[in-house]
Amino acid sequence: MKETYIVDTESHSFLISPLFASYGIKHMFTLRDGGVSQGMYSSFNFATGSGEIPDEWENVVNNHAIAAAHLGMTAEDICRTYQTHSSNVVTVWQSDRGVGLLKPPFESGVDGLVTKEKNVLLTVRAADCVPILLYDLKNEICAAVHSGWRGTVAAIVAKAVKQMMDLGSNHEDIIAAIGPSIGQCCYEVGEELFRAFMDEGAHFGSCFEERNGKLYLDLKMANALILHRCGIGDERISTSDECTACNMERFFSHRVMGVDRGTMAAFIAVR
Ligand SMILES: [Zn+2]
Repeated sequence: MKETYIVDTESHSFLISPLFASYGIKHMFTLRDGGVSQGMYSSFNFATGSGEIPDEWENVVNNHAIAAAHLGMTAEDICRTYQTHSSNVVTVWQSDRGVGLLKPPFESGVDGLVTKEKNVLLTVRAADCVPILLYDLKNEICAAVHSGWRGTVAAIVAKAVKQMMDLGSNHEDIIAAIGPSIGQCCYEVGEELFRAFMDEGAHFGSCFEERNGKLYLDLKMANALILHRCGIGDERISTSDECTACNMERFFSHRVMGVDRGTMAAFIAVR
């Protein structure tokens, strides 16, 4: 179901899902403002970037610390990965706290994290791609997933659900938050991408719209459809109604800004 995410009234620097908030889930989706980065990374930036001038790592670490503090946690609690648009999901533990931020990252690309342990703050980054948070309300298991079009075609969010089930989750107890990402209004795609999705299943056809001879993809809906197939009903999926490419004041957008931009992040931890 579509929801308007709530702006945190104290910091104004992040959004929360109304559905997740109603269960007291510790989570956030960051906005552009609220951090310490400067220039094109101004200011709540979570990656050094691939622009000509990278952001300083110290700023990136400080921004993570600011985000963690909003959730009553610290940078030491964060588990962060090198994202490669893969469908790799890793289950992490307290011993993985600090990985990718204060300790060396995992060696290979990882785009989804799952944990059932307290005090482990999972994070994924996006700037148009879809950040998805999952929570098992009964067994207290959470996940964070980065799902761009490649991750969506590979159904990375279903792999995260599977790993939660390996830890004891039942799909009936899982809720999902599909965060702010590029909307169908702005996400023009090519024929080859349409074919990649149709190869995965004809049901993805409903995620595409034709306007003036061009194709537009609803990437959030595609991820919701994958979650439906995992047994997670629409009433347990909170989909942000905002488009990152439509609102430069609030979001970083790869489609609009190219590589000269910052990156937002989503965070989640066990209650
Ligand atoms: Zn848009």
